[in-house]
Amino acid sequence: MSILKVARLGHPVLRTIAAPVSVREIQAPNFQKFIDDMIETMKEYDGVGLAADQVHESKQIAVLEVAENPRYPNKPKVPLTVLINPQISPLTDEMEEDWEGCLSIPELRGRVPRYKTIRVQALDRNGKHLEFIAADFHARVVQHEWDHLNGKVYLDRMGDLSTLTFLAELARYWIKS
Ligand SMILES: [Zn+2]
Repeated sequence: MSILKVARLGHPVLRTIAAPVSVREIQAPNFQKFIDDMIETMKEYDGVGLAADQVHESKQIAVLEVAENPRYPNKPKVPLTVLINPQISPLTDEMEEDWEGCLSIPELRGRVPRYKTIRVQALDRNGKHLEFIAADFHARVVQHEWDHLNGKVYLDRMGDLSTLTFLAELARYWIKS
């Protein structure tokens, strides 16, 4: 497995709508290796999710996992999930605001409103239909990755940028323990 290079904000790949993946493509050995590399890359950089365009592949693939994570401590666990051609639909109008960061936008966090509960439909890494309901932080991670696949980043979802902060200032002024 290899650690892939992560595209940073400004790279046009992050602003491109990713192409859908065909079932034939999923079965190719190099595709499966790419998924493994995405998972390895997400873990290496302590991400809770990674979209393929973040590693310079403009394809509808995202991986996510929330385990013990130093970048997001005390969050509920989400098992390792591979989403191919994901579609999401909100199950409520209710939005919730919380901090988000992004491996493609290093050192920054901002408060982002997201739907609290969503239905997710996708293919898994074997090309099988996958459907589940995600709530709270899980729903937030899926919406963040889905945005990437559609050429958006979390900054686009912030009502205004007044909460945008560097990590050091976040610890100093916003999250007091
Ligand atoms: Zn991101």
